[in-house]
Amino acid sequence: MFTLGFEGTAHTVGVSVVHEDGEVLSNLFKTYKGTEGIHPRKAANHHASEVVPLIERSIEEADIEKEDIALIAFSQGPGLGPCLRTVATAARSLSLSLDVPLVGVNHCIAHLEIGRLRTDAENPVLLYASGGNTQVIAFKKGRYRVFGETLDIGIGNMLDKFGRENDMSFPAGPLIEEEAKKGARLVDLPYSVKGMDVEFSGIMTAALNKDDPLEDICYSLQETTFAMLTEVTERALAHTRKDEVLLGGGVVQNRRLQDMIQKMTEERGATFHVPEPEFCVDNAAMIAWTGTLMHASGISISVEDSNIRQKFRTDEVEVTWR
Ligand code: AMP
Ligand code: MG
Repeated sequence: MFTLGFEGTAHTVGVSVVHEDGEVLSNLFKTYKGTEGIHPRKAANHHASEVVPLIERSIEEADIEKEDIALIAFSQGPGLGPCLRTVATAARSLSLSLDVPLVGVNHCIAHLEIGRLRTDAENPVLLYASGGNTQVIAFKKGRYRVFGETLDIGIGNMLDKFGRENDMSFPAGPLIEEEAKKGARLVDLPYSVKGMDVEFSGIMTAALNKDDPLEDICYSLQETTFAMLTEVTERALAHTRKDEVLLGGGVVQNRRLQDMIQKMTEERGATFHVPEPEFCVDNAAMIAWTGTLMHASGISISVEDSNIRQKFRTDEVEVTWR
């Protein structure tokens, strides 16, 4: 059985074909790159013009026929309304025209499930650090629970905004990482951990107001915010008594963040897992795979009930497939 998955929560629109045994046959995406951050309407227009060619190429690359598709999965939320709506519309129409069931997938949970598929992690604590989201998630009592999260913006948005103010192109995360390698002097920035939660906008404002060399500010921005993420992830590990840490989201491609989390993980005697880059960023394979798991456990939704959910919470989903 093949599932066609659609991702469309923010800047990336993706379409993927996944087999029920977990083989990813295609995983294609296109990313909207605005100059002034993500403009939801413009990103949605980008997705509308890209989604049909992506469907065709994805099916072609998977070397299957449209008629072989037995399930449609789409990212139901959380995310930007116009983007979610555009991509959900494509998913619904294909479900109707092919006459196959439809499944709505929580995007944050999908990051965790694709990590379980692509790495040896079985029951991990996930640090999910992306443009729009920053959460520490783990499975407990039938649900994926959020043990800590950002109280304001996602860490990736913070890095991209900081980069924009410093004339870096989008996405700024990788450019900040390069700049930070040249820096070595720690500039004092606020360390914002509140209980199990984190905050980034105050740090960004403080960093923008510094006169120090850019390389030192980039270095300090990474050291401070990555230490915060490491601290919260470590406490989630201790609290849940799990022994695996999984990374997900575009920001976790950062080598310095990986090194800090890996060191903490190994010091605790836990194992460290990070999927290949194409499965860290927003991708449709994670939606197709999570949809496959959900459907195998008896879940599907009617088109009438398939409204997008901009504020879809990770812990709202009853996990019937574990
Ligand atoms: P996502 O929202 O998961 O698709 O990931 C996109 C985000 O990841 C953007 O905010 C990027 O700036 C960020 N990002 C990508 N590569 C890196 C990197 N090497 N270091 C830090 N952030 C990164
Ligand atoms: Mg994401």
